[in-house]
Amino acid sequence: MTPQLVQNIQHRREVMRALLFIICLGGISFFTINIFREVYFLAFLELAYSIYAIALLRIISKTDNFQRWVIAFLIPLYTLILYALYLPETSKSMFVWILAFPIVSYLLLGKTAGFLVSILSLVTALVIYHVKFLTIGESVNIAESLNVIFSSALMISFAHVYEKNRESNEVRLLELAGTDSLTGVPNRLKLYENYRQWQEKHCGKQSTMSVVLIDLDHFKTINDQYGHSAGDEALRHVAGFIQKQLPQDALLARIGGEEFTLQLTSEIDQSCDFVDKLRRELKETSLMHEGKVITITFSAGIAIYGEDGTSLDALLACADKRLYIAKRQGRNQVCCKRNHAESTLNKELC
Ligand code: GH3
Ligand code: MG
Ligand code: MG
Repeated sequence: MTPQLVQNIQHRREVMRALLFIICLGGISFFTINIFREVYFLAFLELAYSIYAIALLRIISKTDNFQRWVIAFLIPLYTLILYALYLPETSKSMFVWILAFPIVSYLLLGKTAGFLVSILSLVTALVIYHVKFLTIGESVNIAESLNVIFSSALMISFAHVYEKNRESNEVRLLELAGTDSLTGVPNRLKLYENYRQWQEKHCGKQSTMSVVLIDLDHFKTINDQYGHSAGDEALRHVAGFIQKQLPQDALLARIGGEEFTLQLTSEIDQSCDFVDKLRRELKETSLMHEGKVITITFSAGIAIYGEDGTSLDALLACADKRLYIAKRQGRNQVCCKRNHAESTLNKELC
């Protein structure tokens, strides 16, 4: 199985697990303290939330709806902390918990949702804190007010910068992981990911798709005659040439040394004609390397989604068989299945 080229939320599950564990311990400790202080309503809320946290610990390791459970965890948690802050028995030190809001929100929800939840919860907490602790008569204790406002702004800024950089680094790494470093086109990993997404989107629908396996002819000779760097340039030339002609929704990937794959979504006859046109035009578009003209041709095999298989591996295996036929019959040709008959397309040879 290939790893998926999508954002990894495993770190969020781990943050959530650590948080639930601390919340459990904190909830039980405060339940005991508040029972002794005879603040029964808050005490039982804290106990209930600790039990809820234990249930969540089991749920989050399995659920596919992680984001929903994060929301179901954060809303009651923040409400409980804000309610505790509002109660007359609560001390000023309760604000320490409020300062954790941005960190928790950004780590669990990401940049956008994290920002919204942080702002909303922090502003509410600051209003409660000012009304309860900092307003004496008509006047506000300015020094203390600035302390809580600036420390809150600091926490939200740090959390925002951290998450923004983390997300953009992740996107960049995902891009690099799915790109072939020599030609700049998608690689095998990206091809599998693209196929998985296509299947997810077209599940149960009547959709056309074909997988083309392209192998450059006598490529070893190019390396041997002109050198390895000419071979590299030839690979970049072919990738760039095909990439420029690609229709919308099509994907080109380099999956091996001098092997490329196309994923096409047009009707099979159109796909065969398109690949054959590529073959003819590539032959006409020679590569100039250090004053020498290098002519490149390819052979290709095409497999049809549904008829030849539904997994990418099955389609690639079928396309490979047809590619082998094209090679055996003399190279520089495309082998595909039209109207239930195998045919090779090559205006020069057929
Ligand atoms: P055929 O028509 O049967 O496909 O012959 P071929 O010479 O293309 O096939 P073969 O598999 O024998 O040779 C492929 C060559 O591709 C061998 C290898 O040195 C070369 N190759 C693989 N990867 C690269 C690469 O990244 N750069 C260069 N320059 N050559 C590569
Ligand atoms: Mg090969
Ligand atoms: Mg080859």
